[in-house]
Amino acid sequence: MKKHNFYAGPSIMSQFTIDATADAVKNFADMGLSILEISHRSKQFQAVMDEAVALFKELLEIPEGYSVLFLGGGASLQFAMVPMNMLKNKAAYLDTGVWASKAIKEAKLFGDIDVVASSKDRNYNYIPRDYTVPSDVDYFHYTSNNTIYGTEIRKDPEVGVRMIADMSSDIFSRPVDVSKYDLIYGGAQKNLAPAGVTFVIVKDDALGHTDRVIPTMLNYETHVKKGSMFNTPPVLPIFSALQTLKYYKQLGGVKVLEKMDLDKADVLYNAIDGSKMFVATVPNHEDRSIMNVCFVMKPEYKDLEKDFIDFATERGMMGIKGHRDVGGFRASLYNALPMESVKALVDVMKEFEAKH
Ligand SMILES: *Cc1c(COP(=O)(O)O)cnc(C)c1O
Repeated sequence: MKKHNFYAGPSIMSQFTIDATADAVKNFADMGLSILEISHRSKQFQAVMDEAVALFKELLEIPEGYSVLFLGGGASLQFAMVPMNMLKNKAAYLDTGVWASKAIKEAKLFGDIDVVASSKDRNYNYIPRDYTVPSDVDYFHYTSNNTIYGTEIRKDPEVGVRMIADMSSDIFSRPVDVSKYDLIYGGAQKNLAPAGVTFVIVKDDALGHTDRVIPTMLNYETHVKKGSMFNTPPVLPIFSALQTLKYYKQLGGVKVLEKMDLDKADVLYNAIDGSKMFVATVPNHEDRSIMNVCFVMKPEYKDLEKDFIDFATERGMMGIKGHRDVGGFRASLYNALPMESVKALVDVMKEFEAKH
C-alpha cells in the first residue's frame, strides 16, 4: 500500500533527495568511497558545501553581506546562540508557541527580554496582531511557523527594528525579504534535509557588537570565517540539503513552491471547513499555517478521534496524530509532500465521515 507521509519532523523528503543520498552513501562523487567515510576537507565535499551555500543564497535571493552557515545543535541551540551573539541590552520577542517560548527562556539568560505579545491565552491558536516593538531593542525575534499549533506568519513583519526569525518549519515555502533580518535560522529536518544540520543566514556586519565572552564554537564569527568548516560539519545532511536545493531549483524556485503549498493547504482546509465532523483548531484563516494543518473532531464526535487515527493509518496515512499540546490531528504538508497525498487524506476523511 502506498504510504502518505504527514509527519511533522523529521518529515517527508523528495524522492530525488533520497535517491541521490542513497547513491552517495554507496559511491560519492565517483570516488569509489561512501560519503560516510570521506574527509570533510576533501575537494569533493568542499564542492558540496560551496554549492549548497550558493544555491541557498540564489533560491532565497539573499543579498550581499550575508553568510549562510550549516551548523550542528539544532534550532534549539540557536535559541541560546542568537542572544549570546546578538543581544547587547534588550530584545523583543513574540510568543506564539512552545518553540517561541523556549527561545524566550534562553534569551532571558543574556539580557532584558520584552515579550511584546503572546497568544498563550488561547493555547496559541492565533497570531497576535496588536503589539508594538520598542525602537530601542537590539532585535525583534519571532517564529514564522508554529509547527505544533498550525499558525504561521506568512509576511515579513513591519516592526521598525532589525529582525531575527526561527524559520525551521517553513523555510523555502515563500519568498523572504532577507534584507530586513540580521539572522534567520532553522533545523533542517522539516523542509530541507535529514536531522543533524541547522541552517543560519546571518548579516556579517551584525556580528561582533557585544562585549560578552563567547566560546569559540558558539560564536557565529568562527563559522563565518571558516565557512562552516571550523570543525567537522554534518557531512551527510549537508549533502542531502544540497540535493533538496537542486530539486527546488528544478521545480522553479520558491515562488513555485509557495503556489504548490498554498494549493495543497487550500484543498485540506476546504475539506475540513466543509465537513460536519472535523474542525480546524485555528479559526482565523489568515493565521493558518500552510505547512502544518491542525484539526480536531467537533465535540459531538470527539470520542471517534482514536478510531479515525486507526482508520487513516490502515489506509496509509502516516503521522497524522496531533501534538499532545493540541490533540486531534496534524497533517504536515511540507514542500516534498505531493498534492496526491493531500487528496488521499481528504478521501479517507470523507470515507470515515460517511461511515458515521
Ligand atoms: C522543529 C522545530 C524546532 C526544534 O528544532 P531542533 O532542530 O529539534 O532543535 C524549533 N523551532 C521550530 C519552529 C520547529 O518547528
